[in-house]
Amino acid sequence: MNQVDLHTHSRASDGELAPASLIEKARSLGLSTIALTDHDTVGGIAEARGAAAKADIEFIPGIEIEIDFEPGEFHLLGYGIDPGSASLLEATSRLARARHERNVAILGRIAAAGLPLDTSKITELSQESYIGRPHLADLLVEARCARNRQDAFDRYLGKGRPFYIKKSCLPLEEALSVIQAAGGIPVVAHPYSLFVSKAMLGTLFSRWKEMGIGGIEAYHPTAKYGQCVILERMARERDMFVTAGSDFHGKARPECGLGRTAGNMPIERRFRDELVAALARFSLRGD
Ligand code: AMP
Ligand code: ZN
Ligand code: FE
Ligand code: FE
Repeated sequence: MNQVDLHTHSRASDGELAPASLIEKARSLGLSTIALTDHDTVGGIAEARGAAAKADIEFIPGIEIEIDFEPGEFHLLGYGIDPGSASLLEATSRLARARHERNVAILGRIAAAGLPLDTSKITELSQESYIGRPHLADLLVEARCARNRQDAFDRYLGKGRPFYIKKSCLPLEEALSVIQAAGGIPVVAHPYSLFVSKAMLGTLFSRWKEMGIGGIEAYHPTAKYGQCVILERMARERDMFVTAGSDFHGKARPECGLGRTAGNMPIERRFRDELVAALARFSLRGD
């Protein structure tokens, strides 16, 4: 077995599968290592870890945190985190609260616009589980206010549309210190979503390395393979390690198949080896 996946989502955030089912799928595909990197939560880690131990799959606990950034989206992965870390749990519960408040505000706008929607169930759900704009988009589709998820974003929920409300994200310094306090290593996810020029990417990588970011997720299914090779080179030039992931979410993102990355390439075990070596170096330094 030489295939792995270092970027996956479960039902603990916006993935389709329960953490144990995600591991079962990985087992059926013959993957040897899985990192779970749910958005803003460590809620799936215990279940996934237990299932991975039974399935004899190596498990790496992770998280994906959105950072305040313009013009594009900045997602920061944290690998090797302790899900019991007090400062991490404090930050994730703050993010969950902010997410809930934003959902309530968006639902308020939907109601004020007079759309024929029963929002009570989703408001309740949003209190205890991870609800985001994709779920609100589904609600609009169910109420026949949009043809499909994408149409709901294009009409109502996307940036610049009437029900769009900016998400409150962590400043980079804070996300870094939270991940590091939890014993984790920060890695920049899918850098092309930052939406900056290559020259600017280089400047940012150098700056972020100084701040403690160890690696770059060079390979991601939303980028062309050749563009990912360029990212790998930019990371190596700065002595940063390189990871690859699928960003598996289940059916909602058919282009992100478990165990596969840019160009539909299987994710090679060498990426796991680099990450594990970086984690070992980091824990030696911390002792
Ligand atoms: P949220 O965290 O609630 O802001 O939701 C973010 C998610 O919404 C992203 O992970 C995408 O899956 C989806 N999304 C954001 N913008 C769009 C868009 N313009 N079209 C379709 N999906 C989008
Ligand atoms: Zn997601
Ligand atoms: Fe992401
Ligand atoms: Fe992701």
